[in-house]
Amino acid sequence: MQGVHVPLISNALFQKVQRAFKKDGKPLYTKHKFLLGNFFTCGDCGCSVVGEIKKQKYIYYHCTWAYGKDKCSNRKYYNEQELLDKLGDAVKAVEINDDLKHCIYNAIIELNKQEQNFQTESLQRLNAQAEKIRKEIHAIYQDKLDGTLSKEQWQSENEIRQQRLIAIKTSIEAFDNTNNKFMDEVSSTLELLNNLHSKYLQLSNEDKAILLKSLFSNCTLNDGNISWTYKKPFCYIAETGDFEKIYPGCDSNA
Ligand SMILES: [Zn+2]
Repeated sequence: MQGVHVPLISNALFQKVQRAFKKDGKPLYTKHKFLLGNFFTCGDCGCSVVGEIKKQKYIYYHCTWAYGKDKCSNRKYYNEQELLDKLGDAVKAVEINDDLKHCIYNAIIELNKQEQNFQTESLQRLNAQAEKIRKEIHAIYQDKLDGTLSKEQWQSENEIRQQRLIAIKTSIEAFDNTNNKFMDEVSSTLELLNNLHSKYLQLSNEDKAILLKSLFSNCTLNDGNISWTYKKPFCYIAETGDFEKIYPGCDSNA
């Protein structure tokens, strides 16, 4: 079959489908992606905020006025580009510089040490148990060879120990994964926040929206104003400019 081109849709069918969606050469509808759809609610009536296209290129958001226009005083239309620009300022509040990134990372490692000590002890205990079981498995195999244990007895004794060994190995792996995952998350979060605002400005609008959705929740629009809350853990950085308080030795102005 190599080299033989078989179109998935025949050309005639493709043309037919195209025609069905077009009128006077124009698409019957264009599917626009509202980047900030499902992101805001109306700060006045609590209805969702939806996107709409004006003059075939400008995207505006407004309250759906689902309870009736008379029930909502938020009549404004909000330009998508302006929303993305204004939210860029909010991104600034969670930005960290290189010094702070290293400082927070070290502080978290320090805090994590206690947890690490506990894990190390648990791992040592689990490894010792595994070693003991391996010795038993070896010993009962010898017993089988000596004839002290019948084949059936050995099978059942061996089976019990193999099962225990699997359970212990699973616990050991879980410990390793949890800790690596935690520090990976810390690391990638700090990497993200490092000089975040200048990164934000370079993103496409689509990527800006993705970033905003991961940083903010409970975003509302009301009377021309935007309000938002920072998701965890970003709120900890946004809520305090005084890093000395949470991470002694760190200077946010460094
Ligand atoms: Zn409303």
